[in-house]
Amino acid sequence: MFSYTTAIVVIVLGGILIFWLMRNRNKAKRPQPTVDARNDPQKTVIPRDKHPVSRRNISDNALKVINRLNSQGYEAYLVGGCVRDLYLDLHPKDFDVATNASPEEVRKLFRNSRLIGRRFKLVHVLFGREMIEVATFRAQHEQHHGQDKSHHSESGRILRDNVYGTMEDDAMRRDFTVNALYYDGRDFSVVDFCNGVDDIRTGTLRLIGDPVTRYHEDPVRMLRAIRFAAKLNFTMAPETEQPVRELGHLLRDIPSARLFDEILKLLQSGHGVRTFELLREYQLFAPLFPATDHSLNEALAQQDQQTPALIIESLKSTDRRVKQHRPVTPAFLFAALLWSPMKRLAQELMDQGIPPIPAFQQAAMTVITNQCHHTSIPRRFSMMVRDIWDLQARLERRQPKLIESLMEHPKFRAAYDFLVLREQSGENLSGAGQWWTDIQEVDDHGRFSMVRELSSQIASQGAQKKPGIKRRRRRRKPHSPDSGND
Ligand code: ATP
Ligand code: MG
Repeated sequence: MFSYTTAIVVIVLGGILIFWLMRNRNKAKRPQPTVDARNDPQKTVIPRDKHPVSRRNISDNALKVINRLNSQGYEAYLVGGCVRDLYLDLHPKDFDVATNASPEEVRKLFRNSRLIGRRFKLVHVLFGREMIEVATFRAQHEQHHGQDKSHHSESGRILRDNVYGTMEDDAMRRDFTVNALYYDGRDFSVVDFCNGVDDIRTGTLRLIGDPVTRYHEDPVRMLRAIRFAAKLNFTMAPETEQPVRELGHLLRDIPSARLFDEILKLLQSGHGVRTFELLREYQLFAPLFPATDHSLNEALAQQDQQTPALIIESLKSTDRRVKQHRPVTPAFLFAALLWSPMKRLAQELMDQGIPPIPAFQQAAMTVITNQCHHTSIPRRFSMMVRDIWDLQARLERRQPKLIESLMEHPKFRAAYDFLVLREQSGENLSGAGQWWTDIQEVDDHGRFSMVRELSSQIASQGAQKKPGIKRRRRRRKPHSPDSGND
């Protein structure tokens, strides 16, 4: 009896050992996924004890969504940027879920959800101010060529790709390997089809599939490459990097509203300076801001430091504010980016004999209208850009009678910030920036003294300019021409 039990134990243990050895031998033999992982996806499951993604850093609501879907028999994973960021110990901006449930099935499971469908059909599950986006696994469009559901433009751009697929398909249609990782809430493992974990470890941005084809399918992927390179401090893999400089022109076909959204992500995510430098380096800035790019090239040729300095200073200030969780407005950035082309055009108009005020107004309108052909600027922001520019002349001029009303102007703060930025970037504004800083810091009495001092300075300057001539009082419009604005 004893020897019979021992024999069974030995056989079972032997079996387990043989199974374990075979499994590891297969693993060692398994070929590494190639760059074009789409042709040969390899699924690797990284167990909880082999990766740093901790449930503690995952939004409870996101976990609720995947757990609920799992409990109803569906597959559901956290996917994309959130898994990548958790791997890198960064705070994800938002949590996305991928599932094999259809949008309608997801919608039915969550009362607090709504179906949305601009480019793709998605479900937004709402928890107060937090929104979890749930997408059904989608497939590569090539596998469905000829079907009604997937369309391409002549340049190869995907126009519509709402084609459902398997989890593997879903991974392969994502942009970068590091964005194609899935977190499984059932066993806390990470599922990797494209060697994304290796790329995370080495800080590599690698486009899944053939880079040229994938940039043609969606040229915005080039901007995303720059954005992630700046945000994550990653380096593009050579094949991912190489075509970018030649394909920037494809961005001209992208709807201007989508480019506006992308610009906000590029320049208002706290890494604006680095992103701007990379955009210029990879020749992607010109298709987004052609007039500004032209000004920057001219400035470079003439060794003019002010034009790039204003842009860099505005981005630095935006980056600082983002890090301090203070609000930022696109108007401020657009005002800085388009300032130099606007001033150049205004000067050309003045050279043609147009008086300064109409010249600046016309230049502002033309530059904004031209920019809107490339990236849209929603009206509330373009109006604010114009207000910021319009107030510059008045802030520089500091007419004593207008000080009070200028400080009450709804766009005073943004215009003042812009004035200070211009001073910081080397424009000589005769100390106007510091003066406006001081007047905001003193009490009513101090303010009264500053304005009085300003009045007497102006009077004495006037008297020096015109000795012996009694100044005639002349009514001036508040929008008087200003020479300091050029
Ligand atoms: P962020 O931290 O900026 O949110 P993200 O990677 O989450 O970065 P999203 O725009 O939120 O970026 O997209 C979520 C995921 O959707 C990406 O991680 C990627 O897997 C996929 N994705 C987004 N845009 C594209 C695209 N243009 N082509 C292919 N896949 C994309
Ligand atoms: Mg995201």
